[in-house]
Amino acid sequence: MSLQIYISGKYYDKDDAKISVYDHGLLYGDGIFEGLRSYGGKVFRLQEHLVRLYESAKAIWLTIPISIEEMTKAVNETLKVNNLSDAYIRLVVTRGAGSLGLDPNRTSNPQVIIIADKITLYPPEFYEKGLDIITASTIRNHPAALSPRIKSLNYLNNILAKIEGLRAGCIEALMLNSKGEVAECTGDNIFLVRRKELLTPPIDAGILEGVTREAVIEAARAAGLTVREIPLTRHDVYVADEVFLTGTAAEVIPVVKIDNRTIGNGEPGPVTRDLMKRFRELVRS
Ligand code: PMP
Repeated sequence: MSLQIYISGKYYDKDDAKISVYDHGLLYGDGIFEGLRSYGGKVFRLQEHLVRLYESAKAIWLTIPISIEEMTKAVNETLKVNNLSDAYIRLVVTRGAGSLGLDPNRTSNPQVIIIADKITLYPPEFYEKGLDIITASTIRNHPAALSPRIKSLNYLNNILAKIEGLRAGCIEALMLNSKGEVAECTGDNIFLVRRKELLTPPIDAGILEGVTREAVIEAARAAGLTVREIPLTRHDVYVADEVFLTGTAAEVIPVVKIDNRTIGNGEPGPVTRDLMKRFRELVRS
């Protein structure tokens, strides 16, 4: 049986899972999404992801046609239908099909799409040796233009920075905000370790409130570390003892080089290694 894709209450074979070319999700990136992951059949922090999804919807004046309880059921059911236990789940809500103009009032039927598929992991050597990344010249969207807290279908801001990274041979790129402060990477949040303290940019630096970020902050505090959410500059990154990134797909991944500068001694540090271990225990617990 081919992969079954959920679209607005029905399941379709992967090749038959289609939506209208008039959907404003396609025409304008007018919609929202979530990336989730299941471990041993259980979706990690499903409620947190769904709260973020419904808040993103509210921020763009989009009413998701089903309740959060129905969405919870639909996500779990899509996993079951596909017999998946360790999976990556992409949840998309589009504005729906409308006219060729911008007016969202002319759209009808927002579409809810749930894709549960096998997860493609980063190669293990990235976790053992750490990543080499660059700072992109593309700054993160200004929160007054399009808040990075909205996980919208318009990801061009991140894609442009990702292309800069890829062209420099890096799979991730650091993005600054309009003030020149550290924001986040194209698909991951960033943490620094300095003098045994964990530092990460605050939400109002213009970043996505990562679910993994929150889980790592909790795990670090439980382990006795001081965690501070404070504005950070590239200087802070360059002089950090350790740097790591967090995200649903990446989990916790060390960074050992940024803009050709070696971080710490150039190897994943002890705090990063400890948090990688704690996070893996957490998701499998
Ligand atoms: N920042 C951005 C821009 C993202 O797209 C993501 C999700 N891929 C993250 C951070 C990490 O968020 P989460 O831990 O919720 O996956």
